[in-house]
Amino acid sequence: MIPITKPTIGPEEAEAAARVVRGGWTTQGPEVAAFEEELAEFVGAKHACAVSNCTTALHLALRVVGVEPGDEVITVSHSFIATANAVVYCGARPVFVDVDRRTFNMDPGKLADAITPRTRAILCVHQMGMPCDLQQLLSLARQHELPLIEDAACAIGSEILVGDRWERIGGPHGDIACFSLHPRKLINTGDGGMITTGRADWDESLRRLRQHGMSIPDTVRHTSAKVLFETYPVLGFNYRLTDIQAAIGREQLRRVPDLVRVRRELAARYGTLLANVGLEAPFEPPFARSNWQSFCVRLPDGCDQKAVMQAMLDSGVSTRRGIMCAHREQPYLGMSGALPESESAQDNCILLPLFTQLSSEEQEYVVSCLVDALDRRLENRRRA
Ligand SMILES: *Cc1c(COP(=O)(O)O)cnc(C)c1O
Repeated sequence: MIPITKPTIGPEEAEAAARVVRGGWTTQGPEVAAFEEELAEFVGAKHACAVSNCTTALHLALRVVGVEPGDEVITVSHSFIATANAVVYCGARPVFVDVDRRTFNMDPGKLADAITPRTRAILCVHQMGMPCDLQQLLSLARQHELPLIEDAACAIGSEILVGDRWERIGGPHGDIACFSLHPRKLINTGDGGMITTGRADWDESLRRLRQHGMSIPDTVRHTSAKVLFETYPVLGFNYRLTDIQAAIGREQLRRVPDLVRVRRELAARYGTLLANVGLEAPFEPPFARSNWQSFCVRLPDGCDQKAVMQAMLDSGVSTRRGIMCAHREQPYLGMSGALPESESAQDNCILLPLFTQLSSEEQEYVVSCLVDALDRRLENRRRA
């Protein structure tokens, strides 16, 4: 059986977790602080704040840029549902714009029409690790004086061309970027998230909000020679990452350059194999270098997506359908206009297995199973 993904995690991570357990301080503490510093340095950010997952990261990011009940936040429906949910957690309304057919990212050409006097922020998604057209999105955001939040859940190690320099996603290029550390992404801490920003005041707010709104963190009180009493000036949350997770995350972070290099080789190889059989490989715009968190293939017109996926599963190859659309799920029904590209991306694409341990033979097998599944469909049609 070839799974859709397999995390790269080993004895180094196990030893790091054990070190923290033996040390005795398990919740947010020195390991979290070190992980934040290392991740900030890696993506080129001034500040990084660790949280419990990317969903809570998005919630806090929207809060600190000032999203309030009744506001509108422009985002995409074609994303994991957490993107839209985070907007609703703020009491705001997600306004969905359609995606670009080739990149599966927010279509900058459709953004301007969605902006209203109630718009409070723009939340774009680097879907499947493919960087958005940040230059265009940012220029519109700045023109309308709107903050741009990047859902970079899938995009650790992805790069974007700025002038003539490749920069990692998360600098951030917008105002705040949010990463996920869930096993379905490149690196994981079980669950976990990270928020990067260039603004010290926002970073400070994020730190307070993630820990109950507390004025003096427990880490400071713990090492103080003076008795200190904390206060709770704002309504906060418990969105902490633990030191056990952070220790694992520090080891995972060291692996990112290698993981990205291997994934790019695998993606290029899939591209060649698909081109050889006349299938459309994913598009990478000239300004973007994906980390290939997911590898998405559009099926030829008129395919039965589920039948193709079932045929591949029967042959021992696990796939996933294209990324979901939030506007088709119960909490969001009737909340958007037509989103034809988003729906087509969900219904006509499949994700192929991609993980660092995937061999060339396995990749060839995956593509041959896909071709067989498509041929069988054509035969069935001919017979019918
Ligand atoms: C995975 C994912 C999330 C949620 O991340 P968690 O860490 O699981 O909360 C949010 N947005 C996108 C685009 C994702 O892929």
